[in-house]
Amino acid sequence: MPYQPDLGRTGFLLFNVLQAPAQLQALPDLAEADQPLMEHVLGEASKFVAEVVAPLSRVGDEHGCRFEAGRVSTPPGFRAAYQAFVQAGWPSLACAEEDGGQGLPWLLEGVLYEWLSAANHGWTMAPGLLHGAYECLRHHASDALKTAYLEKLATGQWLATMCLTEPQAGSDLGLARTWAVPCRAEGESENKNPRTDAGADLTGRHRISGTKIFISGGEHDLTDNIVHLVLARLPGAAPGPKGLSLFLVPKVLPGGRRNAVACERIEEKMGLHGSPTCVMRFDAADGWLIGTAGAGLNAMFVMMNAARLHVALQGIGLLDAAWQKADAYARERRQMRAPGPRPDSRGAADSADLLIEHPAMRRLLDVQRVWIDGGRLLAYRTAVLLDVARHHPDAGERAQAQRWCSLVTPVLKAAWTHQAFHGASECLQVFGGHGYIREWGIEQIVRDARVSMLYEGTNEIQAIDLLVRKVLPDGGQALGALLLGLRPLLDTGRELDAEVLRRLAELRYLTTTLAAASVADPTLPYAVADDYLRAVALVLLAWAWTRISQTEGADTPCWQVPARTLHQRVLPELDLRLRLIRLQMPPAAPLA
Ligand SMILES: Cc1cc2nc3c(=O)[nH]c(=O)nc-3n(C[C@H](O)[C@H](O)[C@H](O)COP(=O)(O)OP(=O)(O)OC[C@H]3O[C@@H](n4cnc5c(N)ncnc54)[C@H](O)[C@@H]3O)c2cc1C
Repeated sequence: MPYQPDLGRTGFLLFNVLQAPAQLQALPDLAEADQPLMEHVLGEASKFVAEVVAPLSRVGDEHGCRFEAGRVSTPPGFRAAYQAFVQAGWPSLACAEEDGGQGLPWLLEGVLYEWLSAANHGWTMAPGLLHGAYECLRHHASDALKTAYLEKLATGQWLATMCLTEPQAGSDLGLARTWAVPCRAEGESENKNPRTDAGADLTGRHRISGTKIFISGGEHDLTDNIVHLVLARLPGAAPGPKGLSLFLVPKVLPGGRRNAVACERIEEKMGLHGSPTCVMRFDAADGWLIGTAGAGLNAMFVMMNAARLHVALQGIGLLDAAWQKADAYARERRQMRAPGPRPDSRGAADSADLLIEHPAMRRLLDVQRVWIDGGRLLAYRTAVLLDVARHHPDAGERAQAQRWCSLVTPVLKAAWTHQAFHGASECLQVFGGHGYIREWGIEQIVRDARVSMLYEGTNEIQAIDLLVRKVLPDGGQALGALLLGLRPLLDTGRELDAEVLRRLAELRYLTTTLAAASVADPTLPYAVADDYLRAVALVLLAWAWTRISQTEGADTPCWQVPARTLHQRVLPELDLRLRLIRLQMPPAAPLA
């Protein structure tokens, strides 16, 4: 059963709960993003995802990518699907109109990529970095580079990569050794390469050398050109991350000559077989500086932040895909008698009940729904605020929106990719032994989902980013303000709201005590960062469900059952996480 986007649930979250069109239309650049327009775009997107991309998921997994003499071929059907994607204008959805884009909200792109990842994670890896690369160039590249590359990326005519990782430099990019030499330092013209027949008018040419590993889409047959964004070190650069600069290194140079970039091999992986993960060699390849020397990570940051929200949405989408399969199976397969009174739907002659009627199986599925729809609400809210941070005319509003994105994005990335893998494994449990064999496709989701906990900054690095870099430096004030900002819509008369209010206060108190204890013991935050991130995720998740439950129309089982499950089976984990953190604190620290 291929993945099918659920327009009803998504629409309820976007339009009824979040009231996204009203928020977006308040931004002058997005004034046309009303509900009918958004519904139209999402309707077309869901058709494309279900009809074109989802049916290729199995072939992507089984056939995989092939490497032969430096060339990479993607699975059958992938290239045609990508061409259809470009022709339909999907890559340019949220790009600026002056760059050949459609100027629509980033929110729509977020939903599109959630669905694409759910339908076919491997295929989606190819266009997944496009928008980030586009934003990176738009903000940091010279006008000449923009003229040559921006529109090609906005429209998806050329694909992009993010070349960060090296064998000795994974989480610690400061260890990267790939180097760049300005051509004028070698006495060459920095303008045009003498080896290029008809060079573009690009100044500031460099020679890039080194090896990058694990590069998604480093080589493939989907587009004629590939735009590599490469972190490298200039001569005399400071050691560590501050010595890294960012370069644009195209596979095919402006004059049509092939650049000195080669794919050495592709990795054999646990999953994600539809995406070529490449070892890339740069042999004095022509490259151009993006932004200023030594500010490579800063320029890359634009790309990485959007990519992290994409990965969070990947997690949510993959969990939904697993849930859809397991729910459908549980409504077909009969095993043993379920306890309790017999509803009319159970024929007296049936010797066994549907799996969905067994409380243990229902519980597995309901817990995942809590994470999927609560996560969607939080991710969609973050996407709206990303649009606000980009388009609001008032600098104060932009900064406030950016604060939410900065604090919540690592939480979404780590907690929801964790849940994608573990929750998909729970969904596999619903199939019993049938889940372990290929036929039903659920084992593929478990394998594919695992990588989302590793790339775009491992989940441990996200947790450190949240606690050590973002929460503790101001003593927890920014996070405290964010949590306080969640209170106004809560109503103490409602059971869930009252509990969330209590939990918000508990988390704020814990953050303050943790900040104080970390001054005395600087290793403490590193020891508790994962538990802390999970605690923040649980509180945000609970808050998201208060918003859903309060919305008119949420009085149906489809929303009420997960809201109850949150209260009974998910939120109690918060006590465990808080206790784990307190147990790491010195005995003198006050226990709440
Ligand atoms: C399928 C796939 C696709 C990828 N695509 C790309 C791509 O397109 N471009 C690209 O540049 N890279 C890509 N990567 C690389 C990916 O981003 C790295 O694998 C990741 O950053 C981790 O680096 P590492 O594998 O070297 O692990 P390491 O950094 O060696 O980490 C090993 C373990 O130690 C933990 N650890 C490390 N440092 C700390 C710390 N300070 N505190 C706590 N724990 C720590 C990590 O969390 C991890 O669990 C891809 C990887 C895969 C598997």
